[in-house]
Amino acid sequence: MKAVTGTVMDIRGVVEDAAVLIEGELIYDVIPRDGIGEYDVDEVFGGRDYLIIPGLINAHTHVAMTRFRGLGDDLPLSTWLNDLIWPMEREWNREELRRWAFLGLMEAVSNGSTTVNDHYFFADEIARAAREIGVRAFIGQTIMDLIDFPLAEPEEGFKFFKRWKNEELITPTLAPHATDTVSRDLLEEIGDFAKRENALIHIHLSQSREEVREVKEREGLYPVEYLQKAGVLDRNLIAAHGIYLNEKEVGLFAKSGATLAHCPTSLAKLEGSIAPTVELWKLGANVALGNDCAASNNSLDMVVEMKMASILNKVKAGPDKIGAKEVFHWATAGGAKALGIKAGILEKGYLADLVLINTRKLHFLPEGHHLSHLVYAANGSDVEMVFVNGELIYSFGEFPRIKMPSLSL
Ligand SMILES: [Zn+2]
Repeated sequence: MKAVTGTVMDIRGVVEDAAVLIEGELIYDVIPRDGIGEYDVDEVFGGRDYLIIPGLINAHTHVAMTRFRGLGDDLPLSTWLNDLIWPMEREWNREELRRWAFLGLMEAVSNGSTTVNDHYFFADEIARAAREIGVRAFIGQTIMDLIDFPLAEPEEGFKFFKRWKNEELITPTLAPHATDTVSRDLLEEIGDFAKRENALIHIHLSQSREEVREVKEREGLYPVEYLQKAGVLDRNLIAAHGIYLNEKEVGLFAKSGATLAHCPTSLAKLEGSIAPTVELWKLGANVALGNDCAASNNSLDMVVEMKMASILNKVKAGPDKIGAKEVFHWATAGGAKALGIKAGILEKGYLADLVLINTRKLHFLPEGHHLSHLVYAANGSDVEMVFVNGELIYSFGEFPRIKMPSLSL
């Protein structure tokens, strides 16, 4: 049995001088630190200066897009996507993508993510990289049929799902690209397949005004209405962005049980706007948090994403409407709920996906104020160890499972 000691914090509160006992892939119990001697513990991690939190869940990302970081900063979304990113993405080859997926996953883990929900091309390569690193990953092969994009053939999305559906750490999803790039026929087919397989659907929703206009022109419906009409708006849907939802769509979405994968940094940078997240949250919608890609974010740091989520939602909804408590919920329990995993809480019987943060730093002073310091003062570089499924997969800059030379670029 392993023991991880320090200050334990999840959405329910803080327990100082505690130990999380890990047996196999699960949390065996959370006990006072001085009680460790009563258990058969053979490895002890952490210590007095460590904050132990549930692993952060990056609910919307494209890890291989680390390849495009720093290109086209400060362009509007449609120019950035149509004129810069898509032409480069058409040129991807499998080997190159695999290397960048590796680097993106390593970056995410080293900044405290224990689970990623990825949406991209050559999804087999991303799945293999995730399996090698040992990170929990939900992965969908991006598909679309209203734009000619050879890497996004619909049939490949269903085949990918079937190839990966019996893995432990990898869960395949269905990943229609967005409401303006996927036809109603294809969305309905995806919905039927998802119901048969009890699969999650992961899609981009209302990330630009052009997308809303196109869907309205083509379908006579707003994007959320379109998802509902196609039969995919339910608790198995994770929709990223949603920045241009109108009031009626907010109500429909909240009632459906679907999750908004809120990516505030990326869309504030690309569109100068963020989703009506606070309204959705108040109406009972599930909210999870994502980095989106390193081409738009520009990092895969979920610790900083929490701060951005809080601050940007204050700008949109008012300074007293949202805070550290909510964004910590979105980054942990909200993501776990979206993905249907028993994680995001540090309690007996939950998955042992957790992160150790070293608080012996100037920006964690004065001591205490754990939630405030995590959300508003910390960053991903404070993460020193990451456990997934009870296994230490990141420790002081090293990834015990992988051989670094294979990553030479
Ligand atoms: Zn995205």
